[in-house]
Amino acid sequence: MFEAGPYAPRVISLSATGNTEWKNRSSEKLIPFVEVSGREFPCEWRFNAEESEIDDKKVSFVYESSAPHIRLTWEWRAPQAYGPIEHEIRVENLDSQELWIPMQDSFAFDWQIEEQVSLTHLFVEKGANKPSSVGTHQVLVNDAYRWTGISSTYGDLRDSDPREIIPWTLIERKGANRSGWYAGIEFSGRTRISLERTKASLKGVFGLNPDPGPFRTRLSPGEAFESPTIFLGGFRGNPDEAGNVLRKWVREVLGNPNTWRNPDYPLVVNNSWGGGMDVNEDIANRMIRDAASLGMEMFHVDAGWFRAVGDWYPSPHKFPHGLAPIADEAHQHGLKFGLWVDWTQAGLSTEPGALNARDPKVRDWMVTDIPRDWQPEPFKGQTIDIGVPGAKLWAQHEVERIVSSYHLDMLEHDGYLVAHGCDRTDHPHAAPDPLNKCTYKSSGAYWVDSSNSTDVSYHAVRAYYDIHSKLRKDHPELLLEICNDGGRMVDFGSAAHGDYFSITDSYDPLSNRRAFYDASHVLPAAMLESYVEKWPTPRLDNFRYMLRSGMMGWLTIMIDTNNWTAEQHAEAKREITLYKQTLRPLIRDANLYHVSPRPDSVHWDGIEYWNPSSKQGALYAFRGTSPREETHWFRLQGLDLATNYHLHFYDGSSPDRRASGQELMNKGVKLTLAFPLSSEIVLFEPQE
Ligand SMILES: [Zn+2]
Repeated sequence: MFEAGPYAPRVISLSATGNTEWKNRSSEKLIPFVEVSGREFPCEWRFNAEESEIDDKKVSFVYESSAPHIRLTWEWRAPQAYGPIEHEIRVENLDSQELWIPMQDSFAFDWQIEEQVSLTHLFVEKGANKPSSVGTHQVLVNDAYRWTGISSTYGDLRDSDPREIIPWTLIERKGANRSGWYAGIEFSGRTRISLERTKASLKGVFGLNPDPGPFRTRLSPGEAFESPTIFLGGFRGNPDEAGNVLRKWVREVLGNPNTWRNPDYPLVVNNSWGGGMDVNEDIANRMIRDAASLGMEMFHVDAGWFRAVGDWYPSPHKFPHGLAPIADEAHQHGLKFGLWVDWTQAGLSTEPGALNARDPKVRDWMVTDIPRDWQPEPFKGQTIDIGVPGAKLWAQHEVERIVSSYHLDMLEHDGYLVAHGCDRTDHPHAAPDPLNKCTYKSSGAYWVDSSNSTDVSYHAVRAYYDIHSKLRKDHPELLLEICNDGGRMVDFGSAAHGDYFSITDSYDPLSNRRAFYDASHVLPAAMLESYVEKWPTPRLDNFRYMLRSGMMGWLTIMIDTNNWTAEQHAEAKREITLYKQTLRPLIRDANLYHVSPRPDSVHWDGIEYWNPSSKQGALYAFRGTSPREETHWFRLQGLDLATNYHLHFYDGSSPDRRASGQELMNKGVKLTLAFPLSSEIVLFEPQE
């Protein structure tokens, strides 16, 4: 329910079927002033009824301020008949002069709540670098609760930084009728979500991160600022019920229809990083042959193929015939071909076509001047600001050249987007504050922190989205992987501009399961990629445990499978068949339930899939290291109490049997595994 007040709009209340109504006490705070040539002019917002629109899918209220002339559009959309609604605020400069505006939040509210009501707050971390020991946070929202979560294209730069969240948050009202609301931000730049409870009030703000401030952004005549789109939805039941609606909604609203149309999505991939930077033509061709024999669907060349950072041409020593013949070899074996590129980074190569940080023509694209003695790392260079039109155009042409001339089916973007400030005063973003800025070195590159950080990231991320959108338009079948140094850009803007993400930069079974456990609360499982690395597997049980820890979403094996024994080959082939035939349809379409506490590799953990349409389900069960825990009961969710189900224990750890929904949901299904660090997959379907 919305209200167009004469001076500001307001969400009156949020309610979903069967949910308690959330009443809002505050109007939206619109920017109070604009700046022209260093002078502040107060905004005098007036509702413009003629320009405003209301229909059953959209509400858009227009406010204008006349001197200088600016227009603000406050819009809510319902892109689907179910699930959350979207909200965005646009501020347009209709004046003939350049002006500057302060921070316009995406959405601010003040829900009126009962003083005694017990609320829980759920939020999840990104799996960046290595998932932390908590990851999924469930916190009581008591009186005086204060919380801020932040997200950007690259957090965790220095140890003092807090971990970033996937920019989403859920508030649950406890009691007999569990219900609540959730909201998220569809943007990868620097954003924040804040919550504050005082007795009968729960205030919150979603939008760009105002720190470090003060934020300001330039609007040339005719230009518009768009606050990051947020989505807001109500739910009934537990957070997994909210997730089952949201994951489907993300697929339908933000996902790429071309990608989902392919029944083989998510693909099974072999990635060359098992051998690190040492990849070459011979290794690649051997890996392709083995990947094809194992039933995999894509060969993915990781870092190590290029001449140097910023010089994205195949190394003549490693690939004397170039990359296109490797792609063609993959295609002949029925595999797609993917490639790692760190295309926002410059190095020192002086070869033609290379992005050289010292080249006077491009030196200004670096976020700061780099010292004379700087050297890039083997696959990390200095970040360029793609918010600069020239840099963006270069990057656009470069990725187009790479995709076309190397015959790519998938382009992986790794490395960084500008996540912090920029030193330059001649870029489209605001200039840094010369008295309040710091420059430092981390991961081989130079970074700047200043008051312009959020504006810099706002421009760079929009340029990134434009580049991905253009690639998709020109190559409709191309897949885009967002890796960004392993799980640092896992958010809803990425979900709208990429086909899958690397969810963590640590590839052991526990890290893979933890990152999946966290991210699968909010994002479609098919988009969540786990890289499976070499890990000690004295028994085949451990080998299956290793593979299956990466088989709950998108599976990329990062091992030179030529080194596997004949027995491991046969086992992997069987697992890949199971994945493709039975598990993948569930990963794409089924509801997902977190049927255990978060994995710790000591105790048991598990994930359940259940598709109410196809009436197929699977339970992934993992046993930890605890020597005494041979058995475990998993209580399933989402089933029909009165129906009987046939349970098939895929590895034969227990005999197949029949059980009622009542039993499976209340008492649970009993698993028995003889060895620590082993697993089982239980498949179930209704049985007369
Ligand atoms: Zn810049």
